[in-house]
Order: sequence, then C-alpha cells, then structure tokens
Amino acid sequence: MYDVVIVGAGINGCACAHELSKAGKRIVLFDKEGIASGGSGAAGAFISPKFSKAGELKEILHTAFKYSMSFYEKEFPKLLTKSKLLHIAKNETDDAILRIYKEDTDLELLNTPDNERESLCINAGLVNARPLCLAMAKSAQFIKEEVLSLEYDDGVWLINETYTAKEVILATGAYKQILPEPYIQMRGIWGHRIDIETTSTNAHSIHQFVSISPSTDGKLAIGATHNVHYHPQTSTEAYDVQEGRKELLEKASRSLKLENVKVVKDYTGLRSGSFDYMPLVGSLVLSHETLENKDIHFQTKKPNFQEYTYYPHLTMINGSGGYGFVLAPYLAQILTENILCGKEIPKGLQPARFFGRYAKKL
Ligand SMILES: Cc1cc2nc3c(=O)[nH]c(=O)nc-3n(C[C@H](O)[C@H](O)[C@H](O)COP(=O)(O)OP(=O)(O)OC[C@H]3O[C@@H](n4cnc5c(N)ncnc54)[C@H](O)[C@@H]3O)c2cc1C
Repeated sequence: MYDVVIVGAGINGCACAHELSKAGKRIVLFDKEGIASGGSGAAGAFISPKFSKAGELKEILHTAFKYSMSFYEKEFPKLLTKSKLLHIAKNETDDAILRIYKEDTDLELLNTPDNERESLCINAGLVNARPLCLAMAKSAQFIKEEVLSLEYDDGVWLINETYTAKEVILATGAYKQILPEPYIQMRGIWGHRIDIETTSTNAHSIHQFVSISPSTDGKLAIGATHNVHYHPQTSTEAYDVQEGRKELLEKASRSLKLENVKVVKDYTGLRSGSFDYMPLVGSLVLSHETLENKDIHFQTKKPNFQEYTYYPHLTMINGSGGYGFVLAPYLAQILTENILCGKEIPKGLQPARFFGRYAKKL
C-alpha cells in the first residue's frame, strides 16, 4: 500500500511528489503518457510574476514567484537559468497597467532599453521544464498507466482495481476528469513553443506578444498559449504546426529582430485554467451528497465550506493557467501541509468555492 497516489505527472503532480517524498511518504505517480507529457512538456517555463492590476491572482503569483525562484535556486540550481526579464506592454491599456504596477511593487526594477511602449525589467528566470519534472519525480515510483477508476472502501483508495493508497491527489491538468463533478470546469488552452536557431542574439527573456527566451549557443525558444480555438480532444482538424510557427515568429519579430531563423523543434500542449483564473488546490466536494443536506443554506453570500461533504483523503491541484512552473512549488507546499498537518488552504484556492456558486444557481 502506498501513502499517496498522484495522478498526472506534469509539474503539479511532480512538485507534490517531491514535497511529499521529502516528508518520507511512499508515493506512486501515474501518467497515461509519461512524465511531462502534457502542458508541462511544452512550456517555455519562464518564472515571472503577473504584471497586472491589483487582485487576488496578482497577489498569489507575486508570492509564488518569489517562493519558486528561491525554491528552484536551492533545490534544482542546475535546472534554473537566472535571467533578466523584459516585459513590454502590448498596447495602451497595458501601458497604463504597467505604469501602475511599477509604482506599487517591492520587486527591484532594473533599467530598461528605450521602447515605444511602457516596459519594465526585473531579475527572474526560466527552468528546464522536462528535466525538472523528471528530477522532482525521482523519489516516487512512476507507473505509465491511465487511471480509469478510483474507489474508496474501508479507509483505502483502490486505483484501477489494482493499487491501494491512503491518499489521492488529482493533478490531471486540462484532461478528462476521473471523478466528474459538475461544478469543476477546466478550460484547456492550446499552446505552441518552438526552439529556433538564429544568428540574432538575445540577452534576456522578453514577454510581449509571445515569450522569448535568452539565446544560448545560437538557439532560443519562443512560446505562447493563446490558441483558444484548437483542442486536441474536440477539434475536427489537426493542429496546423506550420501556421503556428508562422504566427509565433511574426509575433516574436515585433519585439526582437530575428535573422537567419531555422525552427529546430516544436512542442505543443494544453494548459488548464479555471473560470476565475485562480488555481484549484484542496479537497473535492461530493456535490450529490452535499446538495442532499437540508441543513445547508446555499443562498448565502458567505458559504461555510465546512458544512460540505468531501471525498475522503482526496485532493486536487490544477488550473495554473500560464503560470504552472511559477505556482507549482508554492501550491505543492500548501497542499502538503494540508495533507500532513491539516493546515487550512486559503478559501480562494479551494475547489469548494466553485461548488458554492454552483449550488446557489441551482
Ligand atoms: C506552450 C506553453 C508555454 C507555457 N509557458 C509557461 C511558462 O513560461 N511559465 C509557466 O509557469 N507556465 C507555462 N505554461 C503553462 C504550464 O505549462 C502549465 O500551467 C502546467 O504545465 C500545468 O501543469 P499540470 O501538471 O497542471 O498539467 P499537465 O502538465 O498537463 O499534466 C497533467 C498530466 O496528467 C496526465 N493525465 C491526465 N489524466 C490522466 C489519467 N486519467 N491517468 C493518468 N494520467 C493522466 C496527462 O497525461 C498529463 O501528463 C505553458 C504552457 C504551454 C502549453
């Protein structure tokens, strides 16, 4: 019997495996395709905060950015490339947002080159996505198998009618839910990254219309998750890789002059986001049982999450949007403290927040 089963070996599942293994837990990590085979394998994996107006998402990404930079530096220094990040506004609205951001941040702002648009520069970094997931998963047992069934009986989870565990963590990204709950709706957004050879050099990461990495040995990466129309499970036509390359190169060349370009590798994948853009971390509400509880008053502005019925010893970590590598170390630590010590997870992160809204509508 395992202490914890983690389903999904993207950055979220791997970060949880790493945290829980450090606490001495016996972990098994399942993935239907392989480690970092989903959105995580495609990511440019820039570690950056969100340069936006004030709000809950900006706050959590700010905290997670600082946390993950020191986490990667301490625990996986060889897989972190520290670099300056130049963020350039896309349009006038962005100009105004960046001006406000600059006035109210505790991050050290570095000098920026002259740009037509508002811009800012900070010390940030990027990680080597796939090797990082592999390194984080190292202390867990990995099984390449799709998890199709999860049953709880007599205090134990039975996985695919074969494996047993005390705890389950679902880290399945934008893929089909194993335990479908109507109030959990994840949005999958398709992304494309290309590695190119070019005679142009780039000293730092640039984020504007797409993300561009610094160049090393004549190579750099360009990536974006912006394609809301294509979905590998529902689209009738195959993704047009050539068109995707063209779009990435055209958008990148608006920020940086690129010469003698040869695309050497493509990576594509889905990233998953929630409908309020905040990540989801914590226990899953059993909606049917909770709705049947006549003592709960659902028409309230301040739902009491403690009244809900939850799947026993089962949590999820998902919905990291375009910031999976920024959020994962931070969220995995929050989830680990919750599983091991019962530490409460902030309400704004708990999946239960969506149940409250769903029940109210019913
Ligand atoms: C092109 C691109 C660029 C990006 N750039 C950045 C960036 O610069 N910085 C950043 O922080 N983030 C970036 N992201 C976003 C980041 O990649 C995601 O937020 C992150 O990968 C989400 O990780 P995850 O573990 O939740 O999901 P995933 O990586 O998708 O992992 C989910 C895994 O679950 C497995 N799975 C699903 N169902 C089952 C099942 N039933 N049984 C077994 N296995 C199952 C899948 O095979 C998959 O491997 C980018 C994404 C893309 C696509």
